[in-house]
Amino acid sequence: MNERDSEAVAAMLRARGYRIVADEDECDILLLNTCSVRDAAEQKAIGKAGYAISRKKRDPDFILGILGCMAQNRGASLLDRLPDVDLIVGTQKFHRVPDYLDNLRAAREAGAPVGEAVVDTEAEAGSQNTIRDHLDGPDRRVCAFVSIQQGCNMDCSFCIVPTTRGDERSRPMDEIVRECEELAARGTREITLLGQIVTSYGRRDYAHTGGISPFVQLLDRVHAIAGVDRIRFTSPHPRGFRQDLADAFGRLPKLGEYVHLPVQSGSNRILRAMKRPYTRERYLEIVGSLRAAQPAMAFSTDVIVGFPGETDADFEQTCALCGEVDYDMAYVFKYSVRSGTPSATMPGQVPVPVREERNRVLLDLLRAGSLRRSQALVGTVQEVLVEGPDRTGLRFTGRTRGNRVAVFEAAAPLVGSLVPVGIARASVSTLYGNLAPADAGLQTARVPASL
Ligand code: SF4
Repeated sequence: MNERDSEAVAAMLRARGYRIVADEDECDILLLNTCSVRDAAEQKAIGKAGYAISRKKRDPDFILGILGCMAQNRGASLLDRLPDVDLIVGTQKFHRVPDYLDNLRAAREAGAPVGEAVVDTEAEAGSQNTIRDHLDGPDRRVCAFVSIQQGCNMDCSFCIVPTTRGDERSRPMDEIVRECEELAARGTREITLLGQIVTSYGRRDYAHTGGISPFVQLLDRVHAIAGVDRIRFTSPHPRGFRQDLADAFGRLPKLGEYVHLPVQSGSNRILRAMKRPYTRERYLEIVGSLRAAQPAMAFSTDVIVGFPGETDADFEQTCALCGEVDYDMAYVFKYSVRSGTPSATMPGQVPVPVREERNRVLLDLLRAGSLRRSQALVGTVQEVLVEGPDRTGLRFTGRTRGNRVAVFEAAAPLVGSLVPVGIARASVSTLYGNLAPADAGLQTARVPASL
């Protein structure tokens, strides 16, 4: 989501005549879009801002702005640590950045003394509708993010997002569809629908029709757009996976065989303490319904280890659940205290070395599973959307329908195409192969899922 917000701000600034430079040492204005989800992310952003600010000694007109979740979370108090920051803009004010920068620059050019920092972290009605600009020209992308919804009304006890992103607000469906149509006309082939809790999209604004939720209605409409070859979405909530969504994976081929399904813990006791409104049994039922719709379905997830009160037995249940689901990939987080969240003051805070050990154990387990699932694809032919050159610039890269990264030899005109790639070798996260003949049948055979 931060990547999408940054792109929208960059596109708005470019439309005003600003230029994006490749090297931050060359810029006159540096904007840091920040994350608050873990304390480490905030400390990293503060360190980076502190370093950047030292440039003011040699260039007093240099402008430094801090945007996004940390700006929202800390507001003007950031100036205690970083008194020379010029701009602090919260998560509902990204669209105001061009005006604020124009004003700051005009004041500098008029020779006005450097004034107080601009701080804007207010809520703003309709702000969810302002993240809609995309970079074009050489920055045009085969895969684009489209923001459909912002904020969250859940109250997971570890999470700071409802504070930093505000109440759940959805964009109008027609506007989202129009944005996707424009992207497709410009060459985008894969759309990722974005929101804090995408599966709740439009629940206050649109009716369920024929048992179909507004989110699935949106999927249907994006699926109907010519030129869009793939649709993904993140981040959903297990609560949103009713039968209509599971069925959508069976009837909408552009959805592919991949779902990110955050679990957080495999222990019902910890899920209750986290205020996650599902049980491990319900979670496994959802996984089962998705694999019934698409037997080759690949899953990724988010897990927190060392949540307050988590015992060895709770942790073992998380490990067991991970084994049962057989994830392709997982983001594992050591529990991080976020002040202002209910879990920050819960009894039974788990010692840091225990959190670290559980993190290591779970990562090892997940890595072994990922490697096994990757290697099961060796010898198959996968459909890959060619995104562009890989990091070395010597080969091309793209993703399979199951969201695995694939690296292969190709030619530039194939960027944006769906091609068959024969998989010759696999690492934990990457498949390596060669273009297969166009008539090679796609084989999605995988390790049999344990559900
Ligand atoms: S649903 Fe997600 S964003 Fe919302 S409070 Fe829970 S973890 Fe945070």
